[in-house]
Amino acid sequence: MEHIDVAVIGAGVTGLASARAIAQAGRSVCVLERHPRPGMDTSTHNSGVIHAGLYYPAGTLKARLCVEGRERMYEFSARYNVAHVRSGKLVVAHDETEVHELEALKKRGEGNGVAGLAIVDRAFIVAREPAVSAEVALWSPDSGIVNAEEYVKALLGTGADAGVIFLPGTKVVGADRRGDGMVLTTERETILATVVVNAAGLYADEVSRLLGGEAFTIYPCRGEYAEFTPAKRSLVRALVYPLPHASGHGLGVHLVRTTGGQVWLGPTVRYQDRKDDYENDREPLESFAAAARRLIDGVTVDDLRLSGSGIRAKLHPPSESFADFLIRRDRENPFVVQASGIDSPGLTSSLAIGDLVADLVEESLR
Ligand SMILES: Cc1cc2nc3c(=O)[nH]c(=O)nc-3n(C[C@H](O)[C@H](O)[C@H](O)COP(=O)(O)OP(=O)(O)OC[C@H]3O[C@@H](n4cnc5c(N)ncnc54)[C@H](O)[C@@H]3O)c2cc1C
Repeated sequence: MEHIDVAVIGAGVTGLASARAIAQAGRSVCVLERHPRPGMDTSTHNSGVIHAGLYYPAGTLKARLCVEGRERMYEFSARYNVAHVRSGKLVVAHDETEVHELEALKKRGEGNGVAGLAIVDRAFIVAREPAVSAEVALWSPDSGIVNAEEYVKALLGTGADAGVIFLPGTKVVGADRRGDGMVLTTERETILATVVVNAAGLYADEVSRLLGGEAFTIYPCRGEYAEFTPAKRSLVRALVYPLPHASGHGLGVHLVRTTGGQVWLGPTVRYQDRKDDYENDREPLESFAAAARRLIDGVTVDDLRLSGSGIRAKLHPPSESFADFLIRRDRENPFVVQASGIDSPGLTSSLAIGDLVADLVEESLR
């Protein structure tokens, strides 16, 4: 049986960034991933937005790790040639009530340490995004866009350079607790790990159960996208958002110009039972066109086509509006560190999450 200091379950951005930080701290570490390649679940099915840190309640991990992770993400992407842009973003208001909400959002962002936020007028909006119809918006200069697939590859490559062993096609199917760690069973081998990190995304609740860790539920919540046809892509230059959903379930159907020049519109919000259903019963194009018209006048179904979708790993049911990331030493099993419930802004926060997980692993190993 192989013996390793740390086994990370899941090679999304959470697991890869954690493993990299753990290896950099001098520990032996492997990443077990059920898919043949890293990042095939949520880590490459998202908007690719580098969030500034506006939205999250003060004092939460989401607020802190987003602000830290965002700057780490810009540095990392510049250093390892990951396509990205610090484009800034506009959050637009439609009426007086929404202007008050923008002001509240600005305050919240400032409380989280986000610099440079400003309420801007029509002239500013037109200079940035000529097609956008709003009169007033919140400008967030430190928001940006990253190519998530390139980011996953760079995490994998720089992790390997630091000594991370990546085991693709390796689903963890069983676990036994011993006096000196956890014996993990995969379809191919058994591994003794002194500490196990649960970074299994949508399956983190099931993996936690397998490990004899804390009980919690992951609620899958699908977000679908449409995209502008090539002829209409010039309508959007960077990032345009409405105010977030009052329900707290999403940031609102927004516009993103990807680093490859496509323009995405989404994501929608729909809780569902399955963790692997990206396609059944898709939203009609007309509902995307209606959402687009709240940002840009005159968009019709002819300007759009359906695009991909992603599934959020939410830690709260539809009846609740917020849950923080679950990142801590497990309260039931001392050999487990949880990096679970990583919904948005998990991509942005990933490098900061990785450092926090590495610190928790060190505490466990001591
Ligand atoms: C629609 C949508 C839009 C989003 N937009 C943004 C955004 O713009 N900006 C942002 O910051 N965040 C965004 N997010 C959030 C972000 O994508 C996630 O927070 C992040 O990708 C989570 O990464 P993860 O590594 O925790 O999970 P995942 O990427 O899902 O990785 C978990 C991995 O664990 C593996 N696994 C599961 N069970 C096992 C097992 N038993 N054995 C081995 N492997 C296993 C899976 O195969 C998977 O690869 C968005 C999310 C969605 C759904």
